[in-house]
Amino acid sequence: MTRVLISADMEGVTGVTCPDDVEPGTAAWERMRPLLTGDVNAVIDGLLAGGASDVLVNDAHYTQRNLLLEAVDPRARLLTGRHKPLGMMEGIDRADAVVFLGYHTGAGERGVLSHTYLGTGPTAFRIDGEPADEGRMNALIAEEHGVPVVLVTGDDLTCEASRAWAPAARVVAVKECVSRYAALCLPPARSAELLRAQALAALRAHAARGDGPRTAGAGSPSDRSHRFELDFHAPHLAEAVGAVPTVERNGPRGIAFTAPDATTAARTFKVCTTVAGAAMEDHFA
Ligand SMILES: [Zn+2]
Repeated sequence: MTRVLISADMEGVTGVTCPDDVEPGTAAWERMRPLLTGDVNAVIDGLLAGGASDVLVNDAHYTQRNLLLEAVDPRARLLTGRHKPLGMMEGIDRADAVVFLGYHTGAGERGVLSHTYLGTGPTAFRIDGEPADEGRMNALIAEEHGVPVVLVTGDDLTCEASRAWAPAARVVAVKECVSRYAALCLPPARSAELLRAQALAALRAHAARGDGPRTAGAGSPSDRSHRFELDFHAPHLAEAVGAVPTVERNGPRGIAFTAPDATTAARTFKVCTTVAGAAMEDHFA
């Protein structure tokens, strides 16, 4: 029995390179939805061939209504829609292994559509003093639930960054970053082959390591607290976020907070980015 969660973001998917590609409602986004669904289906197929007993896909991008349910592999189930308690990681409490699909590098870093939650605003993000991104934050939540990250897919720089927070995971680079808005892309038929093969290998390696079934909290250190730091491009954003309980100012454009565990830290972080987003104007953001 190996139940697998796929946390599916969109920026690191085959063919996706520009902001409109991931902006719901645009023609470009409509065009990319089948490519996202294609990457997901290739991974589902590989996971099941590798011995997964159940695959749950959590649509994790923006409004979280990007995947085409009617085209998703019928052997999997899809969690669609927003306002989920664990956001991108919803479903981790019923998984033995997790895949980060279509992920991207963090704010201030090189990488296709690099950002952390907000497209603009944050310029740097650190967890416990280390450069961080959504992948590192979500890997901590997975660890807290006793669930290993077995596969990461995205551009080549995302795969490289994941070595720091998911060293045992397999990786698939579906594109090579040229700039924040340009990439050398593999056509879907090629990336699907790689995704399927590495998903299969990831599940076999997971079984060989004897990682499952999950043992939440087992052997975890007693201090599970984490310190998050976030810098913005303008002081008014740090001032606005400074109103969030437990958050302190960390320089003219920075904020920081310490939370007792990764899940609480991620929830606080979401509040911080929501407040920052609300403090931006259309111009002079
Ligand atoms: Zn996204």
